[in-house]
Amino acid sequence: MEIRPSTQPQIELRDVFKSYATGAGEVAVLKDVSLQVPPGDFVSIVGPSGSGKSTMLNMITGIDHPTRGEVVIGGQAVHELSENRLARWRGKHVGVIFQFFQLLPTLTILENVMLPMDFCGVYKRRERKGHAMKLLEQVGIADQAHKLPSALSGGQQQRAAIARALANDPPIIVGDEPTGNLDTQTADAVFAMFLALVAQGKTVVIVTHDTALSERTGRVIHIRDGRVDRDQRRN
Ligand code: ADP
Ligand code: MG
Repeated sequence: MEIRPSTQPQIELRDVFKSYATGAGEVAVLKDVSLQVPPGDFVSIVGPSGSGKSTMLNMITGIDHPTRGEVVIGGQAVHELSENRLARWRGKHVGVIFQFFQLLPTLTILENVMLPMDFCGVYKRRERKGHAMKLLEQVGIADQAHKLPSALSGGQQQRAAIARALANDPPIIVGDEPTGNLDTQTADAVFAMFLALVAQGKTVVIVTHDTALSERTGRVIHIRDGRVDRDQRRN
């Protein structure tokens, strides 16, 4: 067993630089971003469109790789993992939620939630359905389990996506504008779900344009032009 000091950050970016090759040449999107998020924090990332917020989240989830610098999540140097190991690592350690839900349209809600379990093998095959149902109960849509995503409202689909993100009980939940496609009331309900996850000890990082919501997270990181412009902590 590994013993680490309790001050070990859950998420750490060290001088992360990311550039893309474009027709117009190399474009720098993240410019030496360094960041530490301790376990159990609720962080919102805000900033103008195109400032690098999604790219930053993609570094944390390993969906994209830094050009230079290091990404260490729960003590694991993510930038060093091969594609194959990375997908499995992500399945166990980070739950990702998107603006447009990204549920698979031909699978039922229950099957969507079970998919990451099948992939990672954290739960035994015979336990998976029961665990998925428990998660759907937790997000309040157990009665929708056997429907296809298209039969659900946006808010219900996002609840399903949250249940899917929780499938393998990851310590970190990341959302890229998870309330961006929901009406205010539904956004509030989804946000309350993130608060509940933080209360359970999860580390939650969301990108949001909604200042009414970002003001309710413990920490607000302002991104501007690929840099951390301001790192605002409450309490
Ligand atoms: P945000 O989420 O803050 O709106 P992004 O992180 O999506 O911003 O993008 C930041 C900048 O990087 C934008 O100018 C975008 O056009 C550019 N960008 C993102 N992904 C790519 C890519 N794969 N190739 C080229 N440019 C990209
Ligand atoms: Mg974005």
